[in-house]
Amino acid sequence: MNCRVCESTNLELAIDLGQQPWCNHFLKKEDVGHEPYYPLRVIYCHGCATAQLDYTIPKETMFGNHTYLSGITKSLSDHFQAVAVEVDKRFFYSIPDKSVLDIGSNDGTQLKHFKSLGYDILGIESSKTTAQIANESGIKTLNEFFNLDLARRLGRKFHVINAAGVFFHLEELHSVTEGIREALRDDGVFVIQFLYMKRIMENLAFDQIYHEHLLYYNLKTIEVLLNRHGLAMFDATLSPIHGGSMIGFVTHAGKHMPSARSEALRQAESGDRSNDFETYLAFAQRIKQMKVENLAYLDAEKNQGLRIFGMGAPVKGNTLLNYFGVGTQYLDYLVEKNELRRGLYSPGMHIPIVIEGELSEVPDIYYVLAWNFKKEILANNQLLIERGVEFYFPVNPKEF
Ligand SMILES: [Zn+2]
Repeated sequence: MNCRVCESTNLELAIDLGQQPWCNHFLKKEDVGHEPYYPLRVIYCHGCATAQLDYTIPKETMFGNHTYLSGITKSLSDHFQAVAVEVDKRFFYSIPDKSVLDIGSNDGTQLKHFKSLGYDILGIESSKTTAQIANESGIKTLNEFFNLDLARRLGRKFHVINAAGVFFHLEELHSVTEGIREALRDDGVFVIQFLYMKRIMENLAFDQIYHEHLLYYNLKTIEVLLNRHGLAMFDATLSPIHGGSMIGFVTHAGKHMPSARSEALRQAESGDRSNDFETYLAFAQRIKQMKVENLAYLDAEKNQGLRIFGMGAPVKGNTLLNYFGVGTQYLDYLVEKNELRRGLYSPGMHIPIVIEGELSEVPDIYYVLAWNFKKEILANNQLLIERGVEFYFPVNPKEF
């Protein structure tokens, strides 16, 4: 294979998480045990330093009907609001007839905030169900995959283009990036939000590695991609969302000088050798240790007769459960907020999902898979914590 970004063939295996089912493939009872497995391996490009999966499940399988809803958690909605307000204040506050295109617009949560700031909005969302939810709530959304062809068909340019949590997914990486260049006004700003690999490694958040995330970026590596398409990142800031995301501000090349804070982030990457192959190998070693430590913990608690439920049934949780081999021998249920997952089973480990508030039993321990909402979860469960219920975080994010 060739590198997805620079086409180099000088690729080397960095992290091997074995054979795993597609982690967003929550199962109906009759489908349990029939889910296909695929290799889950991160390879490193010695040409451009981009970490990426070497196996691609077709995007129509992965994104045709996903059940992730961004509006569900308050912290995510608050984050999207803050992004909209910042972009508007900094770049387009006094501009009339301003417009925004959101790529991978999900249920319209991000666009809702731009709409209230007076923007003409358009969403592009590949999941039919999710696009429908957005349209029904008055957020104009096309049920399509964004790429250069679609950008040309739209035939218009936007002040703001937003892409949150989609650049990891892109099978049509170059067509999408070129499409953004095409649809961005000369004075437009492209806001790119992506999981930050440096932070993933620091947090040992290996569960962010799954088949939908084909690429794992640092600043250095996303800039290789953007620069190839005549785009340049002039500012960037780290946000705690999803356990560590970068928000990059991008324009057509040559428009802005790089900000001091983005230069500081670039220096931190080189100082910490975040783009070196050896750093990836050390991360892979730590993941193996985590498996040993987690199984030892769960075994000890089960041997004492304690009941353990999973908290959350996030997509990423399935990477962790499948890699560790944590199934119903440890966890009776996964307790989840997203009602689209009611009554389903987790892929691979087949743990039944129940909806929060619909189960009267309380376990001794919650094994928290939705660790990126740590603050929210601890705040919402103070009563249980006072009653002695333990909340265990297999991935324990740094505060920042
Ligand atoms: Zn490369």
